[in-house]
Amino acid sequence: MNDVIDRQTPVTVRPVSASLDETVRRFADRPGMAFLGRRTTYGELGRQVDLAARGFQQRGVRKGVKVGLCLPNTPYFVICYYAVLKAGGTVVNFNPLYVERELAHQIKDSGTTIMVTLDVQLIYPKIAAMLDSTPLEKVVVCSMADILPTMQGFLFQVLKRADVAAVPEDLRHIRFERLIANDGQLKPVEIDPLTDIAVLQYTGGTTGLPKGAILTHANLSANAEQVSRWVPSVQPGQERMLCVLPLFHVFAMTGAMNSGIQGGAELILLPRFELDQVVKYIVRKRPTLFPGVPTIYTAIIGAAEKGGSDLSSIRCCISGGAPLPVETRARFEQLTGCLLVEGYGLSEASPVVCCNPFQAVKAGSVGVPLPGTTVEVRSPQDPSRVLPPGEKGEICVRGPQVMAGYWQKQAETEQVFVDGALRTGDIGYVDEDGYIFLVDRIKDVIISGGYNIYPRVIEEALYQHPAVAEAVVIAVPDPYRGQAPKAFVRLRDGQRTTPDELKEFLSGYVSKIELPKLIEIRDVLPKTMVGKLSKKELVAEEEAKAAELGGSLDKAS
Ligand code: AMP
Repeated sequence: MNDVIDRQTPVTVRPVSASLDETVRRFADRPGMAFLGRRTTYGELGRQVDLAARGFQQRGVRKGVKVGLCLPNTPYFVICYYAVLKAGGTVVNFNPLYVERELAHQIKDSGTTIMVTLDVQLIYPKIAAMLDSTPLEKVVVCSMADILPTMQGFLFQVLKRADVAAVPEDLRHIRFERLIANDGQLKPVEIDPLTDIAVLQYTGGTTGLPKGAILTHANLSANAEQVSRWVPSVQPGQERMLCVLPLFHVFAMTGAMNSGIQGGAELILLPRFELDQVVKYIVRKRPTLFPGVPTIYTAIIGAAEKGGSDLSSIRCCISGGAPLPVETRARFEQLTGCLLVEGYGLSEASPVVCCNPFQAVKAGSVGVPLPGTTVEVRSPQDPSRVLPPGEKGEICVRGPQVMAGYWQKQAETEQVFVDGALRTGDIGYVDEDGYIFLVDRIKDVIISGGYNIYPRVIEEALYQHPAVAEAVVIAVPDPYRGQAPKAFVRLRDGQRTTPDELKEFLSGYVSKIELPKLIEIRDVLPKTMVGKLSKKELVAEEEAKAAELGGSLDKAS
């Protein structure tokens, strides 16, 4: 592979919808989206976006108006996202699995007044409950049956009537068909990419309640372009992008949808990750690009090892969101014949900061900064001090993709920037060649008897064991050392081992102080909505156990 990444041309910034308009002009007859057997050309997608944008304008969407999208991956997501932006509004992404308390917090905090959702029992009733208890004024309701191929749509209505939510006919509800029942003559909106807010992306950040990262049109258009430049030998209008990560999450929003549209790729939309379905889709739809998170690639490895599925269409994959074990990368490439590289980012940076060049991967590294991006490592104790190569510290970022700040959170915004650079809350270092290595998140570091233990070091060691499929290490209380590491492990199908054997194995890889005090083998490990292994639930379980133990000791004494 000899494509060289273009670092010379300055990264352009523009309204996010400008790249869709350009793709619609260039590739009107090419497929734009595929969803459960239905295909939409870019020409049709452009038309649907204009109709929906006009419909939003007729209902008051303009600069400053926040429109929530609470949708799984469906054509509605893509259409409404671009329509809101074209109408001049701001998109607020909502996770459809949120409970009412989480939805209410995000609606109130962002000032969302219109929400787009799906007429399914799992989602719609939660949104309906928001109409009387939050600033939410209107709900645009999309019909699930309408986007399924004719026969499936019919069956969905007949057989799964119980899954379809009843939606009242009143002024607060707008059916998607009504939203798009207009002439598509939208009033042109002058967007200033540098100041107009495209998306409020909620994230826990490094601390506290979810906050809205302000992503401007400039931030998002820059990151889509930076990512597009990374992938070698891309053929505009010819690629097929597998979109199985949820589009409401920042990684898929930029890495799959926005960069895919910029390059005229066909977006193959899947509403959730089901291994058999994903494998079937790869075989049938032959995607060429496949952004994912490590747990997804691990699952595909399991399927590929069984054989019988042709996964050879995939050319390039970017893994992000969580550490990609070196073993997983090697095995995935070996089984599929594609290239899998690891990148790194966070909501506050739209999200991609750095990535391994497909042409020059360094094992265990998250790569080098994207064009127009600078990474510096600063002392966690004294953030004004930039550290030399090789020294571990907090990763800080500058670049056109870095957010403007947190929505209506002045104090948190001031804290997250140092001399104009974004503090990521991640510990890492840069080597002499400029490659970035992550060590861990500041908040996950385990302090044991005064030593810093990085859970990731222990996790990487566990992945070296042939029976280990997934591993997570957290801190548990320890009477002598304050904290000690505990590991949770899921084994590969058909494999066996014991905690003692694993400890024995680990002693060859980690120091004595890093050796987990306990190792627990489980059938499943908790994951976030995007499929990252999640520590939160395990930490809460351990805290509850400790509290119970403390309580019974109190009673005994
Ligand atoms: P979010 O804002 O939800 O996308 O989460 C961002 C966080 O995910 C970062 O601050 C990192 O801690 C973590 N993260 C992202 N990419 C990687 C990676 N390749 N390896 C390890 N952690 C990562």
